Amino acid sequence: MVNPKDVLFHELREGVRKVCDRYPSAYWRELDAKEAYPEDFVKDMMESGYLSALIPEQYGGSGLGIAEASVILEEINHAGGNSGVCHAQMYIMGTLLRHGSEEQKERFMPGIAEGGLKFQAFGVTEPDAGSDTLSIKTFARKEGGRYIINGQKIWTSRVAYSDLMLLIARTTPKEEVKRRTEGLSAFLVDLRASVGKGVTIQPIKTMMNHHSAQVFIEDLEVPLENLIGEEGKGFYYLLDGLNAERILIAAECIGDAYWFLEKASAYASERVVFGRPIGQNQGVQFPIARAYANTRAADLMRYEAAVLFDNAEPCGPEANMAKLLSADASFEAGNVAIQTHGGFGFAKDYDIERKFRETRLYQVAPISTNLILGYLGQHVLGMPRSY
Ligand SMILES: Cc1cc2nc3c(=O)[nH]c(=O)nc-3n(C[C@H](O)[C@H](O)[C@H](O)COP(=O)(O)OP(=O)(O)OC[C@H]3O[C@@H](n4cnc5c(N)ncnc54)[C@H](O)[C@@H]3O)c2cc1C
Repeated sequence: MVNPKDVLFHELREGVRKVCDRYPSAYWRELDAKEAYPEDFVKDMMESGYLSALIPEQYGGSGLGIAEASVILEEINHAGGNSGVCHAQMYIMGTLLRHGSEEQKERFMPGIAEGGLKFQAFGVTEPDAGSDTLSIKTFARKEGGRYIINGQKIWTSRVAYSDLMLLIARTTPKEEVKRRTEGLSAFLVDLRASVGKGVTIQPIKTMMNHHSAQVFIEDLEVPLENLIGEEGKGFYYLLDGLNAERILIAAECIGDAYWFLEKASAYASERVVFGRPIGQNQGVQFPIARAYANTRAADLMRYEAAVLFDNAEPCGPEANMAKLLSADASFEAGNVAIQTHGGFGFAKDYDIERKFRETRLYQVAPISTNLILGYLGQHVLGMPRSY
């Protein structure tokens, strides 16, 4: 029997491929060399409607589930691109959707859905607070009918290419909250009005072309109506969005892994050394086959997490495991692709080293491997808390 979801996945994959075909490897390679942002690719993706997959139809999106959304991002990476340049447009709006007021949703959602409004910056991490989110110090003080925000964010990706930023700031000092998870709040910052007026963006150069920046916030005025949900509940809103993010990032890694494995298998079959294809040697073939098996296993965990998520069932362990296993699978596949290509694995023209640099990030961001292991150890296996 044909599963209707399979048909939809197939159509989505074909549609995304058509967009990606307009942006071949040379396009990504050139951007990487220039450390430039893929404005036209992102515009194309936004206008095609794929990045508004998770926005309900009433606000102009396509109202699809996380499984379908994950297939879209997977396909970008599988095609040789990097959805890290635009993935956040898909999911940051989730905080607004779940916790924003109707007025806020009416005001922002249609623009986000149609792509005219870029909402793809998320300011949580600070120089002294990465894994330990509750230690952030950026502070929003309510004064004279508005919030005045001061502080610093780091690693705020795509902030220079966004109209809106979701900012997490403290509204009650850490020492004064009853529960340590309280006292953070979520704000919508309109960057069009704030850059140069309280917000200064300073790009960070990284090993891959990722468009991250430091954001200095000095006496930034944010209207009261830009607070999302209730004051002090920002950490819970943050947690709410994490499973979606984990599943989507997992899918991107899966896309990378399949791309690496296809390149490695093809090269192993055609490269002749000592009079025979190198893939005839088990020492070359088996690591590729093992990486494929690990990728398929990770892929299953991605779908398990996505189905639970789409059925509104708890999926914390599955979403975390999907992210962990997929990041490991893409790293392993990337590594084996380099090894299989010998010296050519390091040549920029082959794109493998670029994709390897890109996929390496997901061992660290948006949550590092150790933190996921700590979560599983404590919350699933019942061992003592390690962080
Ligand atoms: C390219 C890039 C893009 C990013 N984009 C964004 C973004 O858009 N918005 C945003 O808010 N943030 C973003 N981040 C930040 C990212 O979420 C953090 O880097 C990540 O959460 C880790 O925090 P940290 O870098 O401060 O590492 P730390 O928290 O300092 O950790 C360093 C290392 O120590 C390990 N460690 C720490 N504590 C423990 C423990 N108790 N047990 C075991 N191991 C531990 C960690 O696993 C990690 O490997 C981005 C980061 C990068 C590199």
